[in-house]
Amino acid sequence: MKAIRRFTVRAVIPEALSALEELALNLRWSWHRPTQRLFRAISEEAWQAGHDPIQLLGAVEPARLDELARDQGFVNWANELRDDLRRYIAEPRWYQGLEGAPESVAYFSAEFGVAAALPQYSGGLGILAGDHLKSASDLGIPLIGVGLFYRSGYFKQSISADGWQQESYPVLDPDGLPLSVLRQPDGMAARVSLALPDNRVLYARVWVADVGRVKLLMLDTNIRQNDEDLRSVTDRLYGGGGEHRLLQELLLGIGGVRALDLAVELLGLKRPTVFHTNEGHSGFQGLERISNLIGDGLSFDEALQVVRAGTVFTTHTPVPAGIDRFEVPLMQRYFSTAELLPGVSFEQVLGLGVESQMGGPGNVFNMAVLGLRLGQHANGVAKLHGAVSREMFSPLWPGFDVAEVPITSVTNGVHAPTWVDTTLAALAEEVLGSADTTRVDWNSEALTNAQLWAARNEMRAALVADARRRVRAAHETTGGIAPAWTERVLEPSTLTIGFARRGATYKRLTLMLHDKERLKSILVNPERPVQIVIAGKAHPADDDGKRLIQEIYDFADTPEVRDHIVFLPNYDITMAQTLYPGTDVWLNNPLRPMEACGTSGMKAALNGSLNLSILDGWWDEYFDGENGWAIPSADAAGDAGERDALEANALYDLIEHQIAPLFYERDADDVPAQWLTRVRYVLSTLSPQLSADRMVQQYVTELYSPAHKLAVKVEADSWAAARSLAAWKARIAAEWPRVSVAHVESGGLDSVPQVGDELHLRAHVTLGALTPEDVRVEVVYGHSESGDELSAVRASDLDVEPDAAGLDGAQATVFGGTVKLDRAGSFGYTVRVLPRNELLASPAELGLVASAH
Ligand SMILES: *Cc1c(COP(=O)(O)O)cnc(C)c1O
Repeated sequence: MKAIRRFTVRAVIPEALSALEELALNLRWSWHRPTQRLFRAISEEAWQAGHDPIQLLGAVEPARLDELARDQGFVNWANELRDDLRRYIAEPRWYQGLEGAPESVAYFSAEFGVAAALPQYSGGLGILAGDHLKSASDLGIPLIGVGLFYRSGYFKQSISADGWQQESYPVLDPDGLPLSVLRQPDGMAARVSLALPDNRVLYARVWVADVGRVKLLMLDTNIRQNDEDLRSVTDRLYGGGGEHRLLQELLLGIGGVRALDLAVELLGLKRPTVFHTNEGHSGFQGLERISNLIGDGLSFDEALQVVRAGTVFTTHTPVPAGIDRFEVPLMQRYFSTAELLPGVSFEQVLGLGVESQMGGPGNVFNMAVLGLRLGQHANGVAKLHGAVSREMFSPLWPGFDVAEVPITSVTNGVHAPTWVDTTLAALAEEVLGSADTTRVDWNSEALTNAQLWAARNEMRAALVADARRRVRAAHETTGGIAPAWTERVLEPSTLTIGFARRGATYKRLTLMLHDKERLKSILVNPERPVQIVIAGKAHPADDDGKRLIQEIYDFADTPEVRDHIVFLPNYDITMAQTLYPGTDVWLNNPLRPMEACGTSGMKAALNGSLNLSILDGWWDEYFDGENGWAIPSADAAGDAGERDALEANALYDLIEHQIAPLFYERDADDVPAQWLTRVRYVLSTLSPQLSADRMVQQYVTELYSPAHKLAVKVEADSWAAARSLAAWKARIAAEWPRVSVAHVESGGLDSVPQVGDELHLRAHVTLGALTPEDVRVEVVYGHSESGDELSAVRASDLDVEPDAAGLDGAQATVFGGTVKLDRAGSFGYTVRVLPRNELLASPAELGLVASAH
């Protein structure tokens, strides 16, 4: 069977059922339960085969469709849902009530995890992007997603009999997916092109997915116009190394902006003013926009101001090794191609991202540096990750304290309608009046413990059934017949712990195996048994990660414990949707602080599962002593082995002494009342916080709207402000070596100052050729315990004293002001000069500061 050619024949849908096509083609079905119910009513079996309406419509017998077409009740049902979808797309929502928000936002990401039926994601980053689009749609945000269409997506995982991960790359046929090709008015597929070295050209067509109200554009190089080797640029997600990856990112960034322009024109969309780069992969988008502005007559520096004003960069990794980088000679080969980015030289590109700016090597180009240089607005994805990022990138803002590095944080969230189990949503709707589990009152007496416990049991039982099915299917595909014991794996009433994540080493998949005997005794405890469900993919090139999976797999295969611990192959969105709700406890044990945020625990919490986690990522921010358990981090441990030992033992102790006893403490009706108190608490306090709606609203108010305002300002009057900002920055940079705080006079205090006294300051500042309007002179003060450190830091501006004579005559300008001493204790202060311009988003932005000595 070689070279089988495959294509998808779309079902012919009877005219009366045309609503089904419209509903199947908009991915809103992936989070809209009523629409899912409609498709399941056509054929539950076909639905279970793939959770995919288009596949389902292709799989059911035409006779079944004809039968439904004659069933007026069904036809009406479908039409009502179609009308509901149309209303959902057109009606004003949260965003339409805002003022000063952008008309349109472009959201770039290398992966998007919207549904298992569109497998264009590898893990957390992609699913976050998918959730971002869905919440943007629900909130009415005019967002346009930009990504790539990978012909084989990420890989499909199976495990060999000896526990080794096997990858396969099923080829996707876009015609069998909820996509349509972007077309010109003449019906031809629209195309973008990129100039490559040696006079070659890379072409891509553009697929459009409807994610509710949001359009997602996906570039695809698998077209006839491309040379054979270039067709495979978009073959796989994170498939190849160096050059392949660079080609993908050139296409995503540069091609993405071109595709966006086409889509704006051909689909009549609003032109974005704000560009969000979700992680560094799409950073080249800013270069394409610079090149376009140069075409409009701006200089490189002027264009850079425009691009920066409207760009938001989100970093997702707390470790330098996790950042995307390219060898400079490779970059040079591509960016020296004059037609790639007209008007932009390779040296200019290099200046925006060479890693030596961060203390790294000069022959490496760093996509995070590029992201931060091209975006005036930047953030990490949890509070702790914001702090870690400020530290990691602080060399880019020399002279500033780490706390002042202009990187904020927006903690990730997860899309509740996607991730909350139907059972729980139905319970909320029936008993608490709304299916929106993030808003109902989980502490209400209307909801009895028995009802809540029944729902939790039902979700656990669904996981057990799904796990058995998957374990049996895995045996059948690798070894023929599934052994009888596979029918008995897991048990529907046993305390269930879930653990699923990529096989990255820092996530420590095998920490639980540290003391296998102890783990065994916890699992098979006769009074208080525990079971663990594990899943996760290792990157295809990561043999260490695969070895970890093998260790888990081997342990789970030992007869004593195999009923109590299972590894489920091929972790994906569909599996995850049953896995999180079915667990009682969600385990996460990364090496702190390497988990930027982590979202699987959030999805578990939204279903009333309690987190058991190292205080890393989101859990560091949200753990409050009542909503789960913190595994203490052994930061002081001598080495990695000792650290693992301490943390693993703490993990066992928590399960054995706290979690299992609480779970198995039952009242007369066999209900664990104390446990349910925690479940209610988690559902009511964490659900609203962890929802992607909160996250996306925060992006709008804290990043998109400020970016939009700055972008509008710099673009007005043919970019007048951008031009003057570029000139001003050049002047500031040239003069800054002459700026200094020459002398500070203080007075106004008695020999023993008291709270309420005022400190008078006069700072003599030399400004070179700058004027007092170019700078802000501030006194920075706070507690001072020792050395140069200040804590509880505050700042206030000193004002220019027009007539005061400087110490050194005309050369110094005097700035004066007072500070009220409003706290007792040791006081310290310093005076410093910063560039001042209303178009800066942060005083640290230029990395320039002159402090008193
Ligand atoms: C949520 C999710 C992830 C990411 O989980 P983390 O906790 O961020 O590692 C990965 N894969 C799938 C299928 C998910 O649903």
